[in-house]
Amino acid sequence: MTEKIALNGFTYEELEQYVLEMGESKFRAKQIFQWIAKGASIGEMTNLSAALRARLEAVSTANPVAIQGVYSSQIDDTEKFLYALEDDNLIEGVVMRYHHGDTLCVSTQVGCRMGCSFCASTLEGRVRNLTPGEMLGQVLCANRHIQQSDKERRIHNIVLMGSGEPLDNYENVMKFLRLVNDERGLNISLRNVSLSTCGLIPQMYALADEGVPVTLSVSLHASNDRIRRELMPVANANPMEKLLAACRNYLEKTGRRVIFEYALIRGVNDSFACADELAKKLRGMQCHVNLIPLNEVKERNLAGVSRKEAEAFMTRLIQRGTSATIRREMGADIDGACGQLRRHVIQGKNSR
Ligand code: SAH
Repeated sequence: MTEKIALNGFTYEELEQYVLEMGESKFRAKQIFQWIAKGASIGEMTNLSAALRARLEAVSTANPVAIQGVYSSQIDDTEKFLYALEDDNLIEGVVMRYHHGDTLCVSTQVGCRMGCSFCASTLEGRVRNLTPGEMLGQVLCANRHIQQSDKERRIHNIVLMGSGEPLDNYENVMKFLRLVNDERGLNISLRNVSLSTCGLIPQMYALADEGVPVTLSVSLHASNDRIRRELMPVANANPMEKLLAACRNYLEKTGRRVIFEYALIRGVNDSFACADELAKKLRGMQCHVNLIPLNEVKERNLAGVSRKEAEAFMTRLIQRGTSATIRREMGADIDGACGQLRRHVIQGKNSR
């Protein structure tokens, strides 16, 4: 079967062009664009004629993503989705319920080629990039799902922290950001979007000039290049000094403080010497360190630290002038960490 055209991957203007080429009036694009934002299928676009719907359905789909499974945490309100794509690839996402609204973790690639030693998403490399429609589709599916229980609920914040490296799929991610932000569509403010990167420096400079003021999160996970290279192959070509310069540039260009993610790994990056070294490197920079409890991945021989140890590390950073918090662990019982659910399902190990 040839894959259908994803209507949700078109910008408003592209959709206008598309319907004009079908011999329809431009006005149809407005109707379709609005339906897409509501998560409707083509069949549900009831103000289009049945004939037009049939023509559209023959060659296109409103959303190339479908929820295949929902896993609800018993500990908190977190829900994890397993999504199926048109080519049967699987990706995953998590919706977290915070006071300031629902936050969706969005994937940008099937798999990942960055090779971070603690991450399950990268174990089998990158399968392919996701298209803009496949990224937007995750948001549409999540909205539809959460509105089943409460019509008022909607995804308010997006974190590009699912599987994949967003800056390794640069053009598609930029288009996704523009789509999700379009006020005629989902109208999600880019201030409510965080893009997390393992630190691809050239793309970080490009992003700063893109005019999409998202919050930049950088996965640092180390206080020096020696430790960082042990954990993250990307550190070889993207040394810390240059990485921090790219972060300063992002702050200058966008006025947005940078967030550093730091997963505490026992015996690797958790010493007070590391905290001191990190605080020294970040001194004077408007930034924040998010300490992440390591989600232990069975395939990886790395251990996390206790809550108490994480707090001690945090206090040490704060005492040395670096703003830091510990991220709340959510959905720990539902393979909350990147890539774990998909992997278990593919391996047939998921008994739920
Ligand atoms: N590729 C991007 C975004 C995806 S991962 C990036 O590297 O930032 C989102 C965050 O989860 C990153 O900070 C990543 O380093 C972290 N992460 C991956 N595996 C983890 C694990 N097992 N435990 C804790 N954090 C993990």
